[in-house]
Amino acid sequence: MLLPRTVEEYVPGEDIARYIDAFVEELDLSKIEDGYSSEGRPGFNPAVLVKILVYGKLRGVRSCRELARAVTENLKFIYLASGERPDFRTIALFRKRFHRELAQILQQTIEIGLESGAINLEHVAVDGTLIPGFANAGSFKSPEYLAKYLAYLEKSLEEDIKQDDSDDPDDFTPPPLPKALHDRKELTRRVRAALKQHVPGKIEKCSITDPDCRKAWRGPAYNAQAAVDEHSRMVVGGYATNTVTDSAELIPVLQDLEQRAKTTPKRVSADGGYKAQRNLTYLEEKKIEGYIPQARPQCGEFSLADFSYQPDSDSYTCPAGRRLVRRFVHNSKGRSYRAVDSCADCRLKQKCLRKTALAIEPERRNLFISHRQPLIEQMLKRVESDIGQRMRKKRSSTVETLFAHLKYLRKFTRFTFRGLAMVNSMWLFELAVYNIERLLRITRAGATA
Ligand code: SF4
Repeated sequence: MLLPRTVEEYVPGEDIARYIDAFVEELDLSKIEDGYSSEGRPGFNPAVLVKILVYGKLRGVRSCRELARAVTENLKFIYLASGERPDFRTIALFRKRFHRELAQILQQTIEIGLESGAINLEHVAVDGTLIPGFANAGSFKSPEYLAKYLAYLEKSLEEDIKQDDSDDPDDFTPPPLPKALHDRKELTRRVRAALKQHVPGKIEKCSITDPDCRKAWRGPAYNAQAAVDEHSRMVVGGYATNTVTDSAELIPVLQDLEQRAKTTPKRVSADGGYKAQRNLTYLEEKKIEGYIPQARPQCGEFSLADFSYQPDSDSYTCPAGRRLVRRFVHNSKGRSYRAVDSCADCRLKQKCLRKTALAIEPERRNLFISHRQPLIEQMLKRVESDIGQRMRKKRSSTVETLFAHLKYLRKFTRFTFRGLAMVNSMWLFELAVYNIERLLRITRAGATA
């Protein structure tokens, strides 16, 4: 102890902090560096701030204040920060200003995974999860309320009325809002944006604090999508969106994957939320083997297999042995077959197809066959096969594990930014950090093999 010990001595050789240090040094951060001004005091090294953010996420240290404290107290953080001490404002500003550049780190991790052969795209599992947004449920207002509020704000801007003035001519009481929204012009912009989001019948109430956020069944949330390669368990595509359901997300996720990896996966598995016809058609066109559970068409207690098809006459024979003939009515979703005779005297009618809504002869039952029936049958066969069963198990241990890991181990329980662009960047950066950790595990497993 004649000379003071260095911080390095407190960080073991195989510690994850050393790996993060070396990994981030290899990343191309030139876009962030280009964003730095050459004037004024020199800024913090972007690599140091990226290392702090990455290591913080891996250790569940998310708030900028906690990170700023960690670089003064925690030896691993001090080691990664090379003794520099950025304060919480610097970290927060860096994260906000370079959110797009941080999101691009995901692409670099995917390229490393592809080049090293860790990612093979033999099987990719796709899923989405709802993550709470940074909007309060109370900030969701009806279009009528928003229109009134906008009129109030516009008037107050003209007349320079303070927000807490009680002599509002229309007796309009403004809702309590976060401090960040006390700027009247910014608030007017947001209320206008929220009003624009309203879609009658679909989006009834919009948030003033975050107009992009949507009310999901558990509260305000964004839908975070991810595609995970089974072989490496690395994320190969994904984004955050504000649609609450998954059905329209399979094609964009696969397009994102294709753009990143410059190729299509061999097999794709997803849950029943992605069973929409357009998804099946897309997989067919791209020659990707899809494994997506489908609902069997129900004909009361019978299944479609109980109705036998006669191609010569384009008709069906029902379980009671009667004929159902094609109805030539225009239907873009499928074909209809109707019983030739009334089903009123059929002993199976309680178990069979429902009565039709037609005013004339509702007792003649109607069988509807979707245009996507051949695709559904093909998919059902594939999902029920041995390989389909294996895919189902692998899907849950691939993509579901990612969500569990992020939410429970890394404490990623909500987005702390407002607006879809920021939320998307935040999600992609989370996925990038997950990939960095996966690469470390793959490297370690390779070294011990
Ligand atoms: S209810 Fe009609 S369609 Fe169904 S089994 Fe009886 S006759 Fe056939």
